[in-house]
Amino acid sequence: MPNIRFQALQTVLTRTIPEVKMPALKISDFYNSHVFDKKKMKEYLSKEGYQGIINAIEKSEPIPRDMAEQVASAMKSWAMSKGATHYTHWFQPLTGTTAEKHDAFFEPTLEGGAIEVFSGDALSQQEPDASSFPSGGIRNTFEARGYTAWDPSSPAFIMGRTLCIPTVFVSYTGEALDYKVPLLKAINALDKAAVDVCHYFDKSIEKVNSSLGIEQEYFLVDIALFNARPDLYLTGRTLFGHLSAKNQQLEDHYFGSIPERVYAFMQDMETEALQLGIPLKTRHNEVAPSQFECAPIYEELNLAIDHNQLLMDLMDRVAKRHNFKVLLHEKPYAGVNGSGKHNNWSMITNTGKNLLSPGKTPKNNLMFLAFFVNTIKAVHEHADLLRASIASVNNDHRLGANEAPPAILSIFLGSQLSEVLDEIETSRISKKIKDDALLWQGIPKIPQILKDNTDRNRTSPFAFTGNKFEFRAVGSSANSASPMTILNLIVADQLKKFKYDVDKLLKKGEKKDVALLMVIKRYIKESKNIRFEGNGYSESWEKEATDRGLSNIKTTPKALDAFISEKSDILFSETDVFTKREVHARHEILLDSFYKKLQIEARVMGEIVTNVIIPAAIEYQTKLVDNVRGLKEIGLNESTYKAQIDIITRIAEHINFIKSNVEQMVDERKKANAIEDLREKAISYDENVKSFFQPIRYHVDKLEQLVDDSLWPLPKFRELLFIK
Ligand code: ADP
Ligand code: MG
Repeated sequence: MPNIRFQALQTVLTRTIPEVKMPALKISDFYNSHVFDKKKMKEYLSKEGYQGIINAIEKSEPIPRDMAEQVASAMKSWAMSKGATHYTHWFQPLTGTTAEKHDAFFEPTLEGGAIEVFSGDALSQQEPDASSFPSGGIRNTFEARGYTAWDPSSPAFIMGRTLCIPTVFVSYTGEALDYKVPLLKAINALDKAAVDVCHYFDKSIEKVNSSLGIEQEYFLVDIALFNARPDLYLTGRTLFGHLSAKNQQLEDHYFGSIPERVYAFMQDMETEALQLGIPLKTRHNEVAPSQFECAPIYEELNLAIDHNQLLMDLMDRVAKRHNFKVLLHEKPYAGVNGSGKHNNWSMITNTGKNLLSPGKTPKNNLMFLAFFVNTIKAVHEHADLLRASIASVNNDHRLGANEAPPAILSIFLGSQLSEVLDEIETSRISKKIKDDALLWQGIPKIPQILKDNTDRNRTSPFAFTGNKFEFRAVGSSANSASPMTILNLIVADQLKKFKYDVDKLLKKGEKKDVALLMVIKRYIKESKNIRFEGNGYSESWEKEATDRGLSNIKTTPKALDAFISEKSDILFSETDVFTKREVHARHEILLDSFYKKLQIEARVMGEIVTNVIIPAAIEYQTKLVDNVRGLKEIGLNESTYKAQIDIITRIAEHINFIKSNVEQMVDERKKANAIEDLREKAISYDENVKSFFQPIRYHVDKLEQLVDDSLWPLPKFRELLFIK
């Protein structure tokens, strides 16, 4: 029987491309067709009902019970007209994926028939059997139940034949068990703090929305090859594999055309996404072979995150129809670029002004500078917390490890804006100026259109790109809610401090613009250390960052400390986004998942080497031994089978090394398992168990190079990475 690798390769050769059908010729004809959007609400609801839900969306007003009844009934009618038979509360538990529990609309009647019902209560609240979702002890200690509650700010949609209602997930004691509750609180906190600061410049501003555009990177691999790699399907990444002779050296994939099969997948995926209101706009190849990216047009932050979560789910399902598997892992292949999720973030007022967009007039520029500099200062103050918000076992391979960006948070501004800030920092602000025109000389001119193509810095984890900041350290499989909650929260806190500092000067009798400029100037000075314009991947930067006192926390269990530090404690209690219990619960959940994922990787590694790799190596070795025996038998001397003896010996050496290291790794696992304290346990897994991965892999990859290709059981990198 041919080995599983060859069966898989055979299957790949027979692939045909499924026909791609669009529901209509124009995207505008089917965009949002599966979403209960405002237009449909207007059509299906009474005037009062419509206004009620708009107030709930725009002003976060509670929805009265009778109104919920009306909305539920409207949603049901619409959903049934689209063929939906079930509904579900759709939520984002801390496992990182989305969760749903489907209920049918139908209910039997006394007469033996059935009707379709969907009540206001069923819309507003549901009690999923959620005992298996992580809660970091919150539910265990108090109350076993958690419930989901409707989030009207994100519209309901239909997936397959199910009406999905975006919800938050909270414990019966009111604590957040999901990503959304703190996110919504942080969005609100930023709104309030930003509006207050806006009022220095423009009293008519009532609301500030954070907006987010997420660029999503991913790999595609044929499903048959994926299924022939237990490491891939159990851990999401390859634990072994020698680098293919050709990989990304030529960078020809990035500039190349999209392979036909992939193109068909993308079109299908985009159609479904657009029907669900996900405004996908961009698609292209990425640097590594078989790596791609898609990006939507930016949206209000909460919605952008729901859409990204939905998109990840959707990609996976559509890929199956195309016999692909989507790899969202941050580092599926060692030695090849990893994947991220660039979070493009800005703040936009209800009057349509992007607060991170430099304006036409000096006055506007002062407003821009206020938000710009406060964001920089917030990241400077809480870099460790932001680092913690993106920490995960997967992302550790991307940040701080070999051939990957470092775990140092720094901000890239581009030469023009750096110069502007430098100029302000060294300028003298005259407090006695009577003439406004003179004061503005203290503010350098900022060109409205920044030349961003020339000095784009791809190596910076947090870069200003013209009218938004781009947080690039977020992992490709992560829920962006985690970093975006922290970003909004720290900027909100910073803006509050800014207002306090400015008001203090105003009370002292300082002129408003002078006061604003003085505080901005001070902040520029205080946050200067985090600004870095050079190559973020270089070794010299690691050294310089240490000299500057910036942290470089390479591993998750230690990065997570920032969540429970005293500094964060104060921040959380002042902004009211997390309670202490919630933060500690989250910390616990993250540590727990960290060590469990390493535990799984270690086990998978042990199993594969013992049951798959070593037997294959021995089979080849035995063939060589037989060969040598034969050569001897016919009377040839040793010099004729020297090569065989050499390979036989090397195989033996590698096998011995692998076997003894796997045994030692198991011992270390046992020791780590016995540790009670979660943080210590996670660190022990990281330092004592994970440290075996690389040496074991090295010897397995050496075997891959030695063993007869026809006997090698695992699809090789060259087969996984180059799409046929
Ligand atoms: P790239 O960074 O690859 O050059 P773009 O700058 O065009 O691509 O946009 C990347 C993402 O940033 C897109 O999702 C886009 O909608 C989003 N984006 C653009 N402007 C803003 C903004 N003001 N706020 C948030 N996201 C934005
Ligand atoms: Mg970008």
